[in-house]
Amino acid sequence: MKLYDAHSHPHAALSHPVVLNGTCPADWPQLLKLAHQEPQIIPAIGLHPWQVNEAPSDWQASFLKHITAARAIGEIGLDQWVDGYDIQRQQYAFIWQLRQAATHNLPVSIHCLKALDPLLGILKAQPCPSRGIHLHAYSGSAEQVAQLAQLGAYFSFHAAQLSNNAKKASAAVRAVPADRLLIETDAPDTLKTSTSPTEFLLNGYQRIAKLREVAVEALAQQVADNFTRYFIDD
Ligand SMILES: [Zn+2]
Repeated sequence: MKLYDAHSHPHAALSHPVVLNGTCPADWPQLLKLAHQEPQIIPAIGLHPWQVNEAPSDWQASFLKHITAARAIGEIGLDQWVDGYDIQRQQYAFIWQLRQAATHNLPVSIHCLKALDPLLGILKAQPCPSRGIHLHAYSGSAEQVAQLAQLGAYFSFHAAQLSNNAKKASAAVRAVPADRLLIETDAPDTLKTSTSPTEFLLNGYQRIAKLREVAVEALAQQVADNFTRYFIDD
């Protein structure tokens, strides 16, 4: 059974296809170098909403310098949960990067915490990549899934979101259309010291298969198809 990690960050053990996301300009060259050495890595460059306040003034020039080597844009998005957030600056950075993704029709990995309404407003008003968008560690409601799916959204979840009694996330997992479902680790920050990224990823597959009442092998095939269509195909 081949596993695919739709959202992660640089970490030690990489044994399956994985989208590795940068969060600030300092990350981008190293990430692109890693991907050059390891063909299973899909390198994504992005300015994370947690990083917008500290971003160097020339971050956009750096982004444009690296975009030709990147195969995805991420991690970008909006966050009204984190202390000291500046939604205006986040929106500016997000829209600018989303436009770059649309221009190049690159996959885009979106972080959204407590900001689904402003995100929806932007997705409806701004050009998006024709291949769609990807919401990582989706934390919205099951009801909002259909509206986002209409806008071309893919959704991914990791095992820690689905631990016991996580009702909202479990309902969202069940609501996602089969052809829009992805699975992720968001490693290394999500990992407990005793768990490897591969175990954590497999655990996500098992939990999601159980929630959707499908065999894990059938789920794996569906996720493989979705991952390939969204992140790899031209
Ligand atoms: Zn992440």
